[in-house]
Amino acid sequence: MSKPLRITAVKGMNDILPPESARWEWLEAVVRRAMAAHAFRNVRTPIMEHTQLFTRGLGEVTDIVEKEMYSFEDRQDQHGHADHLSLRPENTAGVVRAAAEHNLLYDGGKRLYYMGPMFRRERPQRGRYRQFHQIGAEALGFGGPEVDAELILLAAHLWAELGIRHWRLELNCLGQPDERRGHRAALIAYFEAHQGQLDEDARRRLHSNPLRILDTKNPAMQALVEGAPKLIDHLGEASRAHFQAVQDVLAANGIAFAINPRLVRGLDYYNLTVFEFITEHLGAQGTLCGGGRYDYLIEQIGGKPAPAVGWALGVERVLELLKEEGVAVPDPVPDAYAVIPDAGGVPQAMRCLRALRARGVAVQMHAGGEAGLGSMKSQFKKADGSGARFALIFGADEVAAGEVTVKALRDGAGAQARRPLADPATWADSLKSPA
Ligand code: ATP
Ligand code: MG
Repeated sequence: MSKPLRITAVKGMNDILPPESARWEWLEAVVRRAMAAHAFRNVRTPIMEHTQLFTRGLGEVTDIVEKEMYSFEDRQDQHGHADHLSLRPENTAGVVRAAAEHNLLYDGGKRLYYMGPMFRRERPQRGRYRQFHQIGAEALGFGGPEVDAELILLAAHLWAELGIRHWRLELNCLGQPDERRGHRAALIAYFEAHQGQLDEDARRRLHSNPLRILDTKNPAMQALVEGAPKLIDHLGEASRAHFQAVQDVLAANGIAFAINPRLVRGLDYYNLTVFEFITEHLGAQGTLCGGGRYDYLIEQIGGKPAPAVGWALGVERVLELLKEEGVAVPDPVPDAYAVIPDAGGVPQAMRCLRALRARGVAVQMHAGGEAGLGSMKSQFKKADGSGARFALIFGADEVAAGEVTVKALRDGAGAQARRPLADPATWADSLKSPA
């Protein structure tokens, strides 16, 4: 006999089920409030884009483009043409593409945010998945350092709203392309002088993208990277002033930060300010949020040149940190559970539940099986298990009298009372949990 077929989820891609999903919804609600408080508007772009958007936008010589993208060739159309498509590994390129395509910046800058799944073919481990979720904020069309600072303050505001305390902020300034060219030459000279200590990745990137070597995760190369020439020493007046202005805002707002000259971020599109929010409480995958300025990305993918700055945070990591920090996230429970001792009461009960729900009461309806609704005892057990504060009992007597019995299931929820079915408006609010 052949083994029954058992289809599982794709490796590195998770189902998010209750009660865990309630934590996701709570986090998303906090984020929406925070974004609204900063006047950021929601944007939703497709999870699939032309592969070229990422090869051009992120840079050919990046981990993502070199080895992590889910790319495929679409079916041919009637002219024999097939698109090269990729699942998005990040969403800044997509947002920028959308802004350019729809001329979103015609009347000035835009502050945007998104939430959604991203896809990278990495080795799955704690805090690293193949489908993971990012929340991102992007401010397009603004060149001033105050917007860099605003983005950083937005992230710090989010940590506060979520109740996350164990984070630190690292900053760096990547300067402008001409300043980077000077640094690049110095870097190549330095690494050439230490050829023997380079790993394979580094040797390959030495001439194509030496800056990327600084982003290495290879412990054997840390000392070498530590001693490499620093970009900060190649910055001109304007870049320094921009960086200083960002720092001044942070300092005035009591946001502690450390300047990390080795912070280069994994993507090619950044310039000037880059930053990461890091925690020591999640092991190796400690980067919660990363971002920076990307003033050249829009024109890089064919849009009208415009400055921009943004960040993305990893939802799985933030949720994991919330657990580590013991932040209590409310698990949604219904206000009331409908106990229906006799099937004859079902139509009346459901009329009543509908009226209560329309008034904002969360009610869980008892559901039976083939054999009927079950005993009062078993229904009350379910009512208790639901976490509801009240049972609504639609007994034959009650229903005949045009009433329902409201019984407290939790201490402090009040005495048992009969309520009129015809007039739910007069008592619906008494079932709601105090906010
Ligand atoms: P890392 O250095 O951890 O690989 P990254 O620099 O590749 O991160 P970004 O591209 O800046 O990450 O993405 C922003 C955030 O998204 C990260 O700080 C992290 O919280 C999250 N993230 C990135 N890749 C993954 C992944 N494979 N699984 C879960 N979260 C991820
Ligand atoms: Mg990565």
